[in-house]
Order: sequence, then C-alpha cells, then structure tokens
Amino acid sequence: MRTDILIVGCGCSGLYCALHLPKDMQITIITKSDLESSDSFLAQGGICMLKDETDYADYFEDTMRAGHYENDRTSVEIMIRSSGQVVRELLGYGVDFQREADGNLAFTKEGAHSKNRILFHKDITGKEITGKLLEQVKQCAHIQLLEYTEMLDIITKDHSCSGAVVRRADGAVEEVEAACTVLATGGVGGLYERSTNYRHLTGDAVAAALRHKIAVRDIHEVQIHPTTLYTPDKEDRCFLISESVRGEGAKLYNKNMRRFVDELLPRDELTAAILAQMEEDGMPYVWEDLRTIPVKELQTHFPNIIAHCAQMGYDVAKECIPVVPAQHYFMGGIRTDYEGRTSMSDLYAIGETACNGVHGRNRLASNSLLESLVFAKRAADDIAVKRHVKKPDRNGTENLKREERKGAGK
Ligand SMILES: Cc1cc2nc3c(=O)[nH]c(=O)nc-3n(C[C@H](O)[C@H](O)[C@H](O)COP(=O)(O)OP(=O)(O)OC[C@H]3O[C@@H](n4cnc5c(N)ncnc54)[C@H](O)[C@@H]3O)c2cc1C
Repeated sequence: MRTDILIVGCGCSGLYCALHLPKDMQITIITKSDLESSDSFLAQGGICMLKDETDYADYFEDTMRAGHYENDRTSVEIMIRSSGQVVRELLGYGVDFQREADGNLAFTKEGAHSKNRILFHKDITGKEITGKLLEQVKQCAHIQLLEYTEMLDIITKDHSCSGAVVRRADGAVEEVEAACTVLATGGVGGLYERSTNYRHLTGDAVAAALRHKIAVRDIHEVQIHPTTLYTPDKEDRCFLISESVRGEGAKLYNKNMRRFVDELLPRDELTAAILAQMEEDGMPYVWEDLRTIPVKELQTHFPNIIAHCAQMGYDVAKECIPVVPAQHYFMGGIRTDYEGRTSMSDLYAIGETACNGVHGRNRLASNSLLESLVFAKRAADDIAVKRHVKKPDRNGTENLKREERKGAGK
C-alpha cells in the first residue's frame, strides 16, 4: 500500500493533523481498534483556553507550577497563544461548548488552575470534540480511515522513515509506504494494572522509537490521576471521576469522614496525599463527596459521572463514593521540536505520544486536548510547507513529484 502521509492513530491529534494537511495529499489514518476507541473520546473535564490577555500570566504560571517549572517555556507559550484559534476552529466544526445564559462561552475550573478557563460539554467534552473532528474527516475524499490496522513497526533506511509495517483486521501483515509518517498513538496506560486509558494504548510508537534509536524524552514522567472510582474487582479501565467535580466543590474524606487535603492541589501532590491517607487508614480508597455540589449543577454538568456511579450502585446526590488514584497520562514520549518533528527525518510525533516539554513533570488539567490539537496543526503545517512527495518505490520507478503532476495536468 502507498500513501503520501500515513497517520498512526485516530484520536484528536491524528484527526486534527489530517484536517490541516493539504487536500491534494493522499492521507491514510490507521487505528489499532475502532474509530471511537481512543482516549480522546474519554476526556471528561474540558479544554483550556486563554480567555483574554489579562489571564495570560496566570495561565502560564499555573501550567509551569503544575509542571514543577520543568516545562519548555516556548512550548507553553505556543500552546496558550494558539488556544483561541483552535477553539474558534472547533466551534466552526460545530463543537457545542457550554454557554452562559447570555450566550457567552461558560468556563469551569479544575485542580491547580487559579481561574476558570476550561471550556466543556457536560462531562463528555472529548467525545464532543473528537466526534466532530471524525465527522469532518469522514467527509474528506482524500483521507482514508482504516480500523483494526495496527502499526507493528516503522520502516527506516539511513535514519529516515518511509512508512510502517501494519497488521490488518484479517491478520495480514503488509508494508505501507509513505513519504511522511505521523505517530499519534496516544499514551501508555494499557501497560498498567490500573489506568483510565484504553487497554490497547501500550506506547507502541515509543517502543518503535526506542528500537530505531529515535530520541525520546522524559519517559519516566507518568501522571497518576488522584480520583478514579474504586471497585473491588479488577476492571478493564478505571472510571475517572473528573477533576472538574472537585473544581465545582467536591470534597475528599478519610475513613472517619474528615477532610485531609486541599482538593485542588496539582494532581501529583494530591495523589501523594491520597496514597498516604490510604496507608494511614489501612483502606484501598478514600471517600469523595459530591453532595457539596448543587443537584441541578450535578445533573447538567456531570450526567455521565452520575449515571456511571448509579450503575455501580452509588447515588452521588445522597452518598459519598470511594475513589483511588490510577495511571492517567504520559508526560514523556518521543522527543519533538515545536513542529512535531522527531530526530528521524520524514517522521513526526504528535499528541500524548510526543514530548516537546510542554507539560514538564506534571500536566495541568485540561491542557492535554489543547496541546494535542495545537501541535498537531503545527506538524501538518510543517509537512505542507515541505511538500513531502512520494519516494521511489522498490522497483526504482520514481513517482512523479506533485508539482510535476500538476504541470502534467493530472
Ligand atoms: C478518562 C480520561 C479523561 C481525560 N480527560 C481529559 C480532559 O478533560 N481534558 C484534557 O485536556 N485531557 C483529558 N484526557 C487526556 C486526553 O484525552 C488525551 O491525552 C488525548 O486525548 C490524547 O490524544 P491522542 O490523539 O494523542 O491519543 P488518543 O486519543 O489516545 O488516540 C490514540 C490512537 O492511536 C491508536 N493506536 C495506538 N497504538 C496503535 C498502533 N500500534 N497502531 C495503530 N494505531 C494505534 C489508537 O487506536 C487511537 O486511535 C483524559 C484522558 C482520559 C483517559
């Protein structure tokens, strides 16, 4: 199989990159699972946006403080400065963010944010955004989507990437030749016993990078989310109790039903406090109290969380729920520059599988969807500028360069 651009992964980063590539490029997106089984569809809380210039310094500081000041400052600046444009584009795709009564966008808050700056759609923001991106992609004749097609490895020669080896749904293994390959395979949660991620997200692109001596960065930096619903039985995927629940007033209690921590600490600090409390209590969980949130707010903002808890036997309007930390996010990844370029030519990495240092040692809540979209678009722009063209195939028959094709009137 041959294509101009191969994108591995159809979460928000892969889809957004595809939408920003020139329409005269033939693009193939593959995914290991079905089209909707990506972490992007699971995102609950929301996506950050710089509301206006008065919030720039605080947003920058909150991101840096959460990341223990080990963030790449330029990446942070690019992300924050690009947020308005990304949100405008999302609105253009029909993404329906919550609005105030006067029609203005509504903003909520999560842990470690000093201000309300998070856009949301109930507690299924990721589904709303990624679903709309997928709809757009499906309308593009130049983009081909292949489900149940797993990248087994990338193909390299002289430290340049020329595509990937994939296994198709029927088990057939084949090579996909591509002038340019974009790795958008998400996180590593599938490797952990307890994670909020899909099981099939096992850091395959990072493994390929390590095999081919492509630079990686901060791969020891893994975020543990403080609050997932505790279940005594082992679950395929831990159910997240979004941080925005705490942003709206939910409290955490020890076994004696007493508060023991500031619920809006950065995720790593709160996780450490919860684990210490669990040890002190000799319990496998602590309690989270959502009764502190007005019932109407609970019903309109968190219907998905309420429904899932009800399914598990908890009425969150009447009782506390048991919560426990679980693996959630991968700050490290394949080292990239601000344009998503890796250390190998013709190979890009975007989204959670990439690392340009934007999150430092700990990601600030709701910066991930934003970062994925911002740097996916920049990678697409870079690919477009370079006008990647097909390389000679194995028989030595050189494909016509795009410009030549245009000249030939094809
Ligand atoms: C429960 C939950 C809630 C979250 N809430 C928020 C939030 O509110 N706000 C926020 O900003 N972030 C949130 N996040 C994080 C955010 O959703 C992710 O970081 C982001 O969506 C990652 O997007 P992505 O495109 O990089 O990867 P993903 O969306 O995970 O997509 C990865 C894609 O790669 C494919 N893939 C993987 N391996 C292979 C392979 N070998 N071959 C082919 N395809 C492959 C997968 O099938 C999938 O299509 C949340 C995450 C979770 C799990």
